[in-house]
Amino acid sequence: MLKEYHLSKPFITNQEKRAVTEVLNSGQLSLGSKYKKFEKMFSKKIGTKYACCVSSGTAGLHLAMIATGIKQGDEVITTPFSFIASANCILYVGAKPVFCDIDPLTYNIDPKEIEDKITKKTKAILVVHIFGQSSDMTPIMKLAKRYKLKVIEDACESIDATYKGKKVGTFGELGVFAFYPNKQMTTGEGGMIVTNNKKIYQLCCSLRNQGRAESMDWLDHKYLGYNYRIDEMSAAIGIAQLKKLNFLIKQRRTIANYYSHFLKKYSKDIQVPFIHKHNTHTWFVYVIKLLNTKINRDKLILQLKKQGIHTKAYLPSIHLFEFYQKKYNYKKGIFPISENTSRYSLALPFYIGLSKSDVKFIINKLIKAIKYA
Ligand SMILES: *Cc1c(COP(=O)(O)O)cnc(C)c1O
Repeated sequence: MLKEYHLSKPFITNQEKRAVTEVLNSGQLSLGSKYKKFEKMFSKKIGTKYACCVSSGTAGLHLAMIATGIKQGDEVITTPFSFIASANCILYVGAKPVFCDIDPLTYNIDPKEIEDKITKKTKAILVVHIFGQSSDMTPIMKLAKRYKLKVIEDACESIDATYKGKKVGTFGELGVFAFYPNKQMTTGEGGMIVTNNKKIYQLCCSLRNQGRAESMDWLDHKYLGYNYRIDEMSAAIGIAQLKKLNFLIKQRRTIANYYSHFLKKYSKDIQVPFIHKHNTHTWFVYVIKLLNTKINRDKLILQLKKQGIHTKAYLPSIHLFEFYQKKYNYKKGIFPISENTSRYSLALPFYIGLSKSDVKFIINKLIKAIKYA
């Protein structure tokens, strides 16, 4: 039988199963002790004073926008090469995402592109640490300081990654993490906001819980809030996953090394992930870029799928989604590096459990398929 290699898979053990059962037996399925414990452990792990867990990374980004005061008429500078949520959250509060092209090696926002995009309306830079490694934070923080802009970090793909020894999520006003099942650690659905700013922390905690202030009764509301709470089962999974995060990342690193090892021979045709010297990489995905532009990437995906190997175009450029194009009149060609990366990049199967021989098998099939694509 054909062995299926999926794109991603969560790593779940008896520890997570036991943790969920314990919550279910307790009868306290929301607003219990687990989410608070999860927050405490998380802030300790990342090294911020506060952490506020929410129902998804997207919910976290939405609250991040509100908590930093971004509103109608403001502009926020960000990257088009990301998962769509990092730009959508800017639209949620009526502000405008202003895109910048990316670095061709790390695929993160190119700091050199930012300054030209700053206007009187610019309020913030929303950096996305893509695929598991940090954006180039020194020049970004310098620009933010000079122009009095807030920095918001979408760290959803890069938990525990460092830049010059400092963890992502700790550079800006706040950082947001996500725990969807394809991320390095999961809670099912879930997210986390981290910050050192007490006011922002308190506001986020209130907004996720219907705008209720800490001291208030169930039916008192101070702000227009949301229900962005995480439930106790998810929080319990999060605690179990966080305890083994170092292991999870180490395993991912090993598999990434297998891929890079077997791909070395093909460096003329395939660009492997590049790790900047300031960064440690925590491997959300393993994405290659096809350098031979005669290869039809989408045909390649279909061909590999027939052989049980699931790969994916990673990622589309956000400004070319139809509703963005319509809203802002974006045309093809305005962010050539992002668009080129979107066109030729390919995420390979990547999850704990892949052995060295699995990786070798996948690469052999990939190379064969490329020759015929
Ligand atoms: C996963 C992810 C998010 C948040 O995703 P959710 O599914 O809402 O948890 C946000 N930004 C980026 C870049 C992501 O990869």
